[in-house]
Amino acid sequence: MKPLVLIVEDEAALVAMLRYNLEKEGFAVCEAGDGEEALVQIAERKPDAVLLDWMLPLVSGIEVCRRIRRDPAARGLPIVMLTARGEEGDRVRGLNSGADDYIVKPFSPVELIARLRAVMRRTMPASAEEVLRFGDVALHLVAHRVTRAGRPVQLGPTEFRLLRYLMHHPDRVFSREQLLDQVWGREVHVEERTVDVHIRRLRKALNAGGARDIIRTVRSAGYSLEEKA
Ligand code: CA
Repeated sequence: MKPLVLIVEDEAALVAMLRYNLEKEGFAVCEAGDGEEALVQIAERKPDAVLLDWMLPLVSGIEVCRRIRRDPAARGLPIVMLTARGEEGDRVRGLNSGADDYIVKPFSPVELIARLRAVMRRTMPASAEEVLRFGDVALHLVAHRVTRAGRPVQLGPTEFRLLRYLMHHPDRVFSREQLLDQVWGREVHVEERTVDVHIRRLRKALNAGGARDIIRTVRSAGYSLEEKA
């Protein structure tokens, strides 16, 4: 199962941006537009982490944070607060109310997800870490680690994201254009043959030591992950 992140934010455009980036990075997402709804979602959906905006209608983010920390069932939930405020006093108040980390708007999605992963790593026991498996390949989503038949596989960040995407969708053929969209992102301009370069590196790393190739090249169509490639 993918780790579930609750986004508590009343600004629809920001929610959509966060959802897009989190889903792209392998998280499942649920949403709450205000503090009351957030507490309901936490009780019902039991998310693995919360992105919590400070400025919310009805109940403020700070108050939601305090209530989560008082609730025995949700006390250990990792919380990253989002806020337009950047004053040192506010930062201290945010962290004092029980947030694990704090990020000031505007922020980059990459930085936010890195912070989120860091607080999840600190608060989740190692055994609860999510692992994707395909054949003898295991990909540890939170720790960003890959092994093949128990041996570590060294991958660059792009090869890691590429493999993670393929492992989320095994046995499906993706065109170079689809992989560029999903792995590199729509805003980044990269040539399609870049995909071939990274597939080649990924193959080389995975197949080191003579392991069977699990990436299939589909002529003029693209690539897929297959057991009997
Ligand atoms: Ca807000």
